[in-house]
Amino acid sequence: YVAKEHRTGVELYAPYKDRNSTARLSLFGELRRALVEDELEMFYQPKVHLGERRAVGMEALVRWRHPQRGILPPEEFVPLVEQSYLMRSFTHEVLEKTLPQVARWQAEGVRLPVAVNLSARELLDPTLPDIVGAALRRHGVRPEALRLEISERVMVSEAEAVTPTILALADLGVSLSLDDFGTGYFTLARLNRLPVEEIKIDESFIRRIVDDADGHVIVSSAVDLVGSLGMRAVAEGVESEAIAKAAAAMGCYAAQGRYFAPPMEAVAATEWLLREGGLEPAAEKPTHFA
Ligand code: C2E
Ligand code: MG
Ligand code: MG
Ligand code: MG
Repeated sequence: YVAKEHRTGVELYAPYKDRNSTARLSLFGELRRALVEDELEMFYQPKVHLGERRAVGMEALVRWRHPQRGILPPEEFVPLVEQSYLMRSFTHEVLEKTLPQVARWQAEGVRLPVAVNLSARELLDPTLPDIVGAALRRHGVRPEALRLEISERVMVSEAEAVTPTILALADLGVSLSLDDFGTGYFTLARLNRLPVEEIKIDESFIRRIVDDADGHVIVSSAVDLVGSLGMRAVAEGVESEAIAKAAAAMGCYAAQGRYFAPPMEAVAATEWLLREGGLEPAAEKPTHFA
C-alpha cells in the first residue's frame, strides 16, 4: 500500500520484486478460501432452437462471488485453478453445484440437457470419468441430462492424452459438445472419430457472419461439414436478430447469446425458461428432451 502511494517517487517499500507472483499467491489463497466458504456459483445460459425459438439446453458457467470484488468471470480464476492442486476440488464443486440444479429442473419437468465446461487439466485427470459417474449417481441425475463441453483447443494440444478420458466419459452416457470451434485448427476429418453431438462455433466467427464475406463463407462451410458428419452446429455469442437469422440460414440448429438471454442465476434462469423458453410447468405439460 505504501508503495502505491509513492508511485511517482522512489519505491522504498517494495518488499517483493515480483509483484505478479505476490498477487498470484494472494489470489491463490483467496481461491482456497472460496472453495471452503462456498463462494463459487453457477450461472445458466439457454441454448435456443433457431427455427422454433425455444430452449433446447442450458450451459452452466462458473462465477466467483468475491466478497470484495463482486462477481468474477472464469477467466480471472480458472487459469489459476488449472495450474494448481485445487483442480479436483474445483471440478467437484462445479458438479456439486450444477447437478442438484439439474435434478431440480428434471423434477419440475424442465427436461433439458445442461452442459458443464471441462478444461484441459480436468480432462488430463484419468479419474475424471469416475468423478463424473459418482456425482451423477449421488444426485440421481440421468447421464442424458448432462452434456460436457470440451474446447477445440484441448483437442489440438492434448488430443492423444485426453481421447481415452473422453471415450470413457461418453461411455457413461453423457453427451459431448465441441466448444469454441474454429479457434484451434482441429482437423475436421478427426471429428467423426469422437462421439460428439454438438459443435459450438466460436463467437469470434459468429460475429463476422453478417458483414464480412470471408467470415460468412468460413462459417457456412464449417456448418455444412458439421451437418454432413451428422452433428449439430450451435452458434455462440449471438448478439442480434441479424446474426441469429444469418446463423439459422446457414443451418445452425441452435444459438446462444445475450440477444436471447445472458448467463443468469439459477432462479432467473428458471423464470426465463418458463416465461420465454417455450416450456410449461410440469403439472400442466411435461416437456421432453429436445
Ligand atoms: P465458453 O464455454 O465458450 O462460454 C461462452 C462464453 O461466452 C461465456 O463467458 C458467456 O458468458 C459468453 N457469452 C454469452 N453470451 C454472449 C454474447 O452474446 N456475446 C459474447 N461475446 N459472449 C457471450 P464466461 O461465462 O465468461 O466463460 C468463459 C469461459 O470460461 C467459457 O467459455 C469456458 O471455457 C470457461 N468456463 C466457464 N465455466 C466453467 C467451468 O465451470 N469450468 C471450466 N473448466 N471452465 C469454465
Ligand atoms: Mg462452453
Ligand atoms: Mg464456447
Ligand atoms: Mg467461446
